[in-house]
Amino acid sequence: MSKNIIFLNPIFKETIWGGNKLKQFGYSIPSDTIGECWGISAHKNGDCTICGGEYKGMTLSQLWNSHRDLFGNCEGDCFPLLVKIIDAKKDLSIQVHPDDRYAMKHENGSLGKTECWYVLDCEKNSTIIIGHNAKNSIEVENMITGRHWKEFIREIPVHKGDFFQIEPGCVHAIKGGTLILETQQNSDITYRVYDYDRLSNGQPRNLHIKQSIDVIQAPFKESSYERTISFGLDYTCEKLIECPLYCVESLKISGSAQIPQTHSFMNMSVISGEGTINNIAIKKGTHFILPYNYGNIEFKGDMQIITSYIQ
Ligand code: ZN
Repeated sequence: MSKNIIFLNPIFKETIWGGNKLKQFGYSIPSDTIGECWGISAHKNGDCTICGGEYKGMTLSQLWNSHRDLFGNCEGDCFPLLVKIIDAKKDLSIQVHPDDRYAMKHENGSLGKTECWYVLDCEKNSTIIIGHNAKNSIEVENMITGRHWKEFIREIPVHKGDFFQIEPGCVHAIKGGTLILETQQNSDITYRVYDYDRLSNGQPRNLHIKQSIDVIQAPFKESSYERTISFGLDYTCEKLIECPLYCVESLKISGSAQIPQTHSFMNMSVISGEGTINNIAIKKGTHFILPYNYGNIEFKGDMQIITSYIQ
């Protein structure tokens, strides 16, 4: 069995709300309106290629299909997670995602989407939209069709290091000035509720009013997950979320830390600092997967890494 670390080439996505902050990660981005870096993805709309090693040039989906042993023989048609860095220079549209059941029925058998956000950075007084103020489904429909956006939308302050779990049916939007690492189910199904009446190439972008009203959960319930922190020699590991779809952790290394890889696979994205993993140089902006049965990892350096895995 191969025990090589699977390093990935990120994919960049041009968006009307994107900026150029992804340069901070050492990426040479193709324009000044890049909203997303897909760092770990096997999605058909952006399938990362493997960078270096014996699988060099293969896509992550090809590797998933041909070498499932690297992923602990996990079941499923597609690699289950997608990790992105999002640079919102302007506000993203207000949106909601379906759950697996709704997506299966209405979106050609696609998966629904649960996602979570780790706030990497944000400008002073930044806000984010999570949830709504309607008391029930009828109010949701009335507020949306009546365009009562101010009353409908629940906007809250956001700070560096905040973490949000976005369940299907939860109205949400990243607002301008925020840089986020998103870990999500491998799905690209988004229903746009409201786009601030903006124009893209002279036209308003499509809204999905019916689907949104179908899937929005009412009333909004804040999801409460406890963040727990464990301490090792020269590292801390903070569990940000453990849900049926994924676990996400923030790993902070300072010095020389030994950590075992005990999961079917482990996604890792370096979000600050630099150092080595088993003597291979890594730095802010590096994305990689530790395969099944990788054994002990030895990190050296000063870095923060966001990890994700499934149980
Ligand atoms: Zn979303």
